[in-house]
Amino acid sequence: MTDINADVVVIGGGIAGLWLFNTLNQQGYKALLLEEEALGGGQTIKSQGIVHGGTKYTLSGNLTKAAECIAGMPKRWRDALAGQGDVDLSDARILSEYHYLWSPGDIASRMTSFFASKALRGRVNQVKEREKLPAIFRNDSFRGKAYELNEIVLDIQTVVKSLVKGLESRTLKVDWAPDSGNSRIVSDNGDIAYIEHTQGDMTYRIQAGKFVLTVGEGTRTLMGRWGISEPEMQLRPLHMVMVKHAHPDPLYAHCLGVKTVPRMTVTSHPTEDGQWVWYLGGEIAEDGVERTPEEQIRVARRELAAILPWVNFDNAQWSTLRVNRAEPKQSKLLRPDAAFCQPVGNGIVTWPTKLALAPNLADEVGNLLEADNVKPSGNEDFALPANLKHPEVCEQFWSKHFD
Ligand code: FAD
Repeated sequence: MTDINADVVVIGGGIAGLWLFNTLNQQGYKALLLEEEALGGGQTIKSQGIVHGGTKYTLSGNLTKAAECIAGMPKRWRDALAGQGDVDLSDARILSEYHYLWSPGDIASRMTSFFASKALRGRVNQVKEREKLPAIFRNDSFRGKAYELNEIVLDIQTVVKSLVKGLESRTLKVDWAPDSGNSRIVSDNGDIAYIEHTQGDMTYRIQAGKFVLTVGEGTRTLMGRWGISEPEMQLRPLHMVMVKHAHPDPLYAHCLGVKTVPRMTVTSHPTEDGQWVWYLGGEIAEDGVERTPEEQIRVARRELAAILPWVNFDNAQWSTLRVNRAEPKQSKLLRPDAAFCQPVGNGIVTWPTKLALAPNLADEVGNLLEADNVKPSGNEDFALPANLKHPEVCEQFWSKHFD
């Protein structure tokens, strides 16, 4: 058995784990990242890539003090994208500098839009001049109002690549399958004593001052392997729609409806063959969980025809994607718009609850490490043995859905 001694082991390479792993490395921690599939391949790549600043939550009148935390996130991300933040995202691709809120012009949604405009005063700007509207709205059929939000939309695959760049030798591909896997948690009285990892005829014992779980939907199963049952997790299923088409203009916007959830949230993702994949979430994804893919696509077609009647989808390809949001079980004590981090034994169980909150999660874990006196021990030459396998970066979420 060969010992590998880290200061912190981060388990799970989605946005939460990657941002944390990168930050810890920069702070001089000997940090390792363990991933069982592909980096970013869980909820992270299937997200819409919007760095929320909390404006969406004002629709429900919910912009409480707690939401001030999320209001600070766009600046953290913008600094990182400019190469001046706690992590360096200067190689990541910005899909849109702004996300928009728009009302398609019918009476009911105009009411919501009025409410939103009051609640949002000072946070968003109404785009009044036609030439300042996103290109897709500069059409004679466009009615209604559009607001510009201070929320960037990102190509998440490039974010994942940036966060792991140069740190690959500190990542490890693990497999916990009880019979065939190569990794297992050895626990001791509620603590993780070490992680045993076998490759070929070598066995390694990975020890650390702290083990941080950033495994999203995998949390309950991994906690079971560790032998703990709290904190509890809940899943919120979504049924997203993807439409690949040749309309030249992208769309990044929440379409307001009568509910507090946007009627539809659209983001646009460029494909290698010069088309766009529009990714449709919001109310349609929440209400469409029980629908078959065919039914869901029918609803999406009808909705798009109603809200964007001038966009032609005749030659489009359609597909749907089922995905769960994983988060802590809701209770009145939770802050809904901050990352969740709970110490358990010598570990910390976390959910960012939103991609945008990854910096907040790294801050919170940093505070807990400091409180427990887990300090960076210097990492200049720190690397895993060369024969160990590293996880790959995930593919784009639509890659298996279209020609
Ligand atoms: P994940 O991305 O799921 O990462 C967990 C990782 O852990 C995965 O790579 C997985 O393979 C790995 N893993 C699991 N089990 C194990 C194990 N036992 N050992 C090792 N590795 C393991 N948020 C926003 O802020 N903006 C948005 O626009 C947005 N859009 C969204 C759209 C959709 C459809 C969904 C579902 C969510 C959206 N979110 C958005 C929320 C956001 O995607 C999530 O909050 C965030 O990505 C969660 O990141 P994570 O790192 O916790 O989880």
